[in-house]
Amino acid sequence: MTEDSPAPQPSATPAWKPSTVAVTTGRPPHEPDQPLNVPITTASTYVAGGDLEYGRYANPTWTAFEDVLGALEGGRCLSFASGLAAVAAVLDLVGQGAKVVAPAHSYTGTLLQLADLESRGRLVAELVDITDTDAVVAACDDAALVWFESPTNPALELADIETISAAAHAAGAHVVVDNTFATPLLQTPLALGADIVVHSVTKYLAGHSDVLMGALVTSDDALYDVLKGRRDLLGSTPGPFEAWLALRGLRTLHLRVERAQSNAQELVRRLSGHPALSEVRYPGFGGIVSIVLAQGAPAADLLVHTTRLWVHATSLGGVESTFERRRRWKAEPATIPEGLVRLSVGIEDVDDLWDDLSGALEGLD
Ligand SMILES: *Cc1c(COP(=O)(O)O)cnc(C)c1O
Repeated sequence: MTEDSPAPQPSATPAWKPSTVAVTTGRPPHEPDQPLNVPITTASTYVAGGDLEYGRYANPTWTAFEDVLGALEGGRCLSFASGLAAVAAVLDLVGQGAKVVAPAHSYTGTLLQLADLESRGRLVAELVDITDTDAVVAACDDAALVWFESPTNPALELADIETISAAAHAAGAHVVVDNTFATPLLQTPLALGADIVVHSVTKYLAGHSDVLMGALVTSDDALYDVLKGRRDLLGSTPGPFEAWLALRGLRTLHLRVERAQSNAQELVRRLSGHPALSEVRYPGFGGIVSIVLAQGAPAADLLVHTTRLWVHATSLGGVESTFERRRRWKAEPATIPEGLVRLSVGIEDVDDLWDDLSGALEGLD
């Protein structure tokens, strides 16, 4: 490179594939003495007169994370203190008494927020079977917001995002997709018609079970401004350390998702027809598998306490394999089987995972 040629900017090539984007976006410019990584900026305030001004409005470490996730989802990203803080900022947009359509099997925190807002007269929640496209389309009619998870947590049902988004837009509703399970590597909801993508960054994006963080992504500039306004006012901002850890996690997202998915596919193959199970649910992609123990809750509780490698813990999307019986939570819908154990398949050796899990299943007899 000659002295006066402009430094190539890492994010200047839109044709790059997602794995390249994940590695290269949100870096300092390629200039002498620039660090390769964005530093952790600990600042509550900035010298006046620029774009940043105050720590609740902006932080360069958030911005680097937001540039990467925004590029992967195809929109502009806002980071939040947690996934539920991001969910709250979106639900806050809904007008007084307006209708929100959401899957009956949404994440329990989302269901609890909807129930809480409904009990205080803020909105009306209509919970639907997200796999019944005709019924969901009919429910869109007088809705202000149509909320998706696909796959749902932990039932792993899939929604027809394109068809339902078109119906929602025809009815004047906004479409929101919680893309935590699929990640932008396996599904990009904005390209399917969604207005806003929600992430619990806590899960796959950060990926190491050491961060709580959330994010929203939209390609609608007006919505971006409104959502940024909510974050500024609610103060639901991440810390710079969390943003840096999440950014570091994003750099390897493609490798982790690839490995978790291939492990999950192999485990599903081996678990299918297992005599201890009445059901193996898997949408065909991603690293989450739900198994239903034929002997119900007691067998499921025994299983999660019998393994050596698999860790009994809530949450998902970390490098380590974890699992839990979801109905141990009171808020989990009664339509989720008592004996359902959700597996978050990690990136360990698949034979080790299988030996541990199948050994524990055999011990249940
Ligand atoms: C965990 C989770 C959330 C909430 O995110 P937090 O970071 O725990 O606040 C939202 N949606 C889904 C699908 C989740 O799995």
